[in-house]
Amino acid sequence: MSVACSWCGVAVAEDDGFRVSQPGERRHAVFCRLEHVVPWAMQGPVWQPGAAVADPDDAAGLGVCALCGAGLEPDHVLVVRHRGPHRIADAFCDVDHLSAWARRGGRFRAAGA
Ligand SMILES: [Zn+2]
Ligand SMILES: [Zn+2]
Repeated sequence: MSVACSWCGVAVAEDDGFRVSQPGERRHAVFCRLEHVVPWAMQGPVWQPGAAVADPDDAAGLGVCALCGAGLEPDHVLVVRHRGPHRIADAFCDVDHLSAWARRGGRFRAAGA
């Protein structure tokens, strides 16, 4: 089963791509690649209803924003990378911080790896 990228419409397989959600608002978006978060956020994000995000492998460390380190509010944004059987999650204050993080290259760049 696959879903369409919220930005470019390409099919995204269940074991690939990125799921972005706002659990407090019960809405989400899907991306084939992290870079597509940036133009999507810039245009004013368009969400799908429902909190369709898998449980991350490791929910520890999700108490703060991955970009600025601030404590998360109930309206925070969660991004989960699907990579084969893995579900790798990061959390953000809002879409702006998610977009800034994506522009920097995401977790791998930010972690210095
Ligand atoms: Zn895309
Ligand atoms: Zn932040």
